[in-house]
Amino acid sequence: MSDFGLIINGDRIATSNRFDVINPATEELVATCPLAEASHLDQAVEAAREAFTHWSQVSDEERKAATHKIADLIEQHGGELAGMVTEEQGKPLQGFAGLGAQYEIGGSVAWCHATAELELPVKIAQDDENHRVELRRKPLGVVGSITPWNWPLLIAIWHVIPAIRSGNTVVIKPSPYTPLSTLRFVELANQILPPGVLNIVTGQDDLGPLMTAHPGIDKIVFTGSTATGKKIMQSAAGNLKRLTLELGGNDAGIVLPDVDVASIATGIFASAFINSGQTCAALKRLYVHESIYEEMCSALKAIAENLTVGNGLEEGVDFGPVQNAPQLEKVKALAADARAQGARFLTGDSLPDGPGFFFPLTLVADVSDGCRLVDEEPFGPILPIIKYSDIDEVIERANNNPSGLGGSVWSSDLEQASQLANRLECGTVWINNHAAIQPNVPFGGVKQSGFGVEFSTEGLEEYTSIQSVFIPKS
Ligand code: NAD
Repeated sequence: MSDFGLIINGDRIATSNRFDVINPATEELVATCPLAEASHLDQAVEAAREAFTHWSQVSDEERKAATHKIADLIEQHGGELAGMVTEEQGKPLQGFAGLGAQYEIGGSVAWCHATAELELPVKIAQDDENHRVELRRKPLGVVGSITPWNWPLLIAIWHVIPAIRSGNTVVIKPSPYTPLSTLRFVELANQILPPGVLNIVTGQDDLGPLMTAHPGIDKIVFTGSTATGKKIMQSAAGNLKRLTLELGGNDAGIVLPDVDVASIATGIFASAFINSGQTCAALKRLYVHESIYEEMCSALKAIAENLTVGNGLEEGVDFGPVQNAPQLEKVKALAADARAQGARFLTGDSLPDGPGFFFPLTLVADVSDGCRLVDEEPFGPILPIIKYSDIDEVIERANNNPSGLGGSVWSSDLEQASQLANRLECGTVWINNHAAIQPNVPFGGVKQSGFGVEFSTEGLEEYTSIQSVFIPKS
């Protein structure tokens, strides 16, 4: 596969230089990708600006129908796209709890259909004998989308679909580690959309700052690390770009003493290790009451020991590799630091042989706040299990972190759990669950996990500005 090209104004564009995309399970070449230059970005932005004139004015029905058709095309090409996601990202086709590449494709289809059905009706602020004042939602212009490598296709859908549904045009730049499924998606969507509505440029990280500083881009929607999010905020100031920043998380899950450990252990495990822990809203710090601490450690250990880590294209593999070598080094460093501080490794002692950026499913007990593994987002298949004794103290420890994406409370007392949710500093709180997202519920972080929300009507509104129109009665 080496026929990937940029898509600009509906045309496939070749570049002089290309870069390699590596399968993280084998370290073999999957494909080469076009390396865009600044001039390609300029062309893409120009095409998007031109297309905006028309696309912003087409009827809502037309945009809704196009969005449904894109969903249908993704579904028709689901097998091909799932294979690409597994090869470039590493997650198994099916995987543990069915949360692999096929789930990513199914989610993409579902999110397209759900977003197609969202509406931004005109609101009436005043209607009296003097004036009717209408609040209309207007698209912003050209949206620049910058995506990470963990859920490459699904996150591209989360950016692109609400943008075009609400009348904007888009230039997307996927992560250099995982550009293939996004390139194919954009190619497919261009069978439906008018030329220039959706354009893609691929390249290395240095393409990102060119986008965030580009005067022809009106909004940046970014999903990625907090460090990059801060750079984007500075760079976007030139023309006061609107921003949606979905950044890193270090979600705490708090397990109260009244739980039935056996019945919640699988849910906790799945929400911590989803996509080998490389999920923004995965459960990353597990606080367990001292009275059930050892029971919970044993239950999680028993689950991990029965699961297989390997090449996601092979049958029966539950979890894939870490997506790239630098991320693997970070996970190893956090594990080594915890070991040096005397943590107890319940699982994960041995690394698989052979190629691939593999790290075992690792459960770490007897660690606490102040250890890097707890304080920093590992973004890999490793979970610290932290003992606590007092509920007020554990809420304070959960909140004592710069991130504020999600959090969870696990308890058989739903009333108490719901009260505790009020005290957690994060954008989403789940009770007896974690990391479950859906297209009709806004999702976004507080503190250094970013700002703005995605999904639902509230997410769609972020791609628009309000125009207040005063209509005199005579
Ligand atoms: P990253 O910040 O390294 O890269 C993300 C994207 O930004 C890539 O496309 C990259 O090429 C681009 N980029 C890099 N430097 C840039 C710059 N200076 N200006 C503009 N763009 C630049 O993140 P990553 O390692 O790909 O993703 C992992 C991180 O993403 C984790 O911290 C994770 O928590 C976070 N994440 C957050 C969410 C969420 O919804 N909050 C979802 C998924 C991932």
